[in-house]
Amino acid sequence: MPEHPRSDHHFASDNTAGICPEAWAALQRANLGREPSYGADAWTQRAGDLIRGIFERPDAEVFFVFNGTAANALALASACQSYHGVIGHEIAHIMVDECGAPGFFTGGATLLPCPGEKAKLEPVAVERVLTRRSDLHFPKARVLSLTQSTEWGTVYRPEEIAALSALARRHGLAVHMDGARFANAVASLAGTGATPADLTWRAGVDVLCCGGTKNGLNSTEAVVFFHPGLACDFAWRGKQAGQLASKMRFASAQWVGVLEDGAWLRHAAHANRMAGRLAALLRAIPGVSLCLEPEVNAVFVRLTQAVAAALEARGWHFHVFIGEDGYRLMCSWDTREDDLQAFAHDLRAVLSTSP
Ligand SMILES: *Cc1c(COP(=O)(O)O)cnc(C)c1O
Repeated sequence: MPEHPRSDHHFASDNTAGICPEAWAALQRANLGREPSYGADAWTQRAGDLIRGIFERPDAEVFFVFNGTAANALALASACQSYHGVIGHEIAHIMVDECGAPGFFTGGATLLPCPGEKAKLEPVAVERVLTRRSDLHFPKARVLSLTQSTEWGTVYRPEEIAALSALARRHGLAVHMDGARFANAVASLAGTGATPADLTWRAGVDVLCCGGTKNGLNSTEAVVFFHPGLACDFAWRGKQAGQLASKMRFASAQWVGVLEDGAWLRHAAHANRMAGRLAALLRAIPGVSLCLEPEVNAVFVRLTQAVAAALEARGWHFHVFIGEDGYRLMCSWDTREDDLQAFAHDLRAVLSTSP
């Protein structure tokens, strides 16, 4: 790591981290000469091939866009007409954090929120939403959207995805996966033998929005279509939406940098490990409790507003996320053991002086 001033006080999100060394090195290599524009370059070909290899699907179609909102909204638009509905968890990013982009890019499709424990969907609840109305006065459900890993840092097992996909299939729905933190889910399940293919198309996922930004890349997400029929107009859709990079190689080179030697999973596993470590440090502090056990790179801890404010006064950045007292601490590829120790130390100090 080069020596430069860095703020160690960021647990606000995994996108507050910088660009990882593998992506940075690839950017430098990509910067050496001239290359064709708009994705007709060798880096983009290579990045797509690497993704097709990792997912064991030589026929998958891969597109790079600038961010997750665009990836999700455009992927959903590929499956939806204006009168369709998209079922997703009620706190999913597409529901509450995309400013209506799915509705905008689909030309009017309706988001149909569904409740579920720990930010996960279950077939019974989805079926309830699916069967509530089937008349033509209500949007026709067309897509089931899952987030992997979820907004609460939980993870779907392959069999859970398969059960949801089977239900979707029975009702004629396509399956979309918001994988802003897909790598963290893969790393989390590595011990079970589940592969990227097992977590996506083998379990019935038609299109995956695979996150790069939160795993050490700069402004790039991959839209991976396993269902070729859905991909046919994506190039035009993405261009119209302002998501076609003319210097595409600077997106795709970063993917090559992290995919070639497995750095994407190493970084995700590191972030997950740091979250596990942070959870252990926090649990050891008397009076501190976690909202749920971390499965990936997020830790949710219960704090009073006064304690949170005192930590913020000491320079820590993080957000309230679950209810009024569940604060989210996000680890990333560059989180260090020192950062965790310093946070735990400050929390102990704050608790010992505040009522
Ligand atoms: C961060 C995130 C995204 C992508 O957000 P952008 O800011 O548009 O890149 C999508 N889904 C989830 C679950 C996220 O956490």
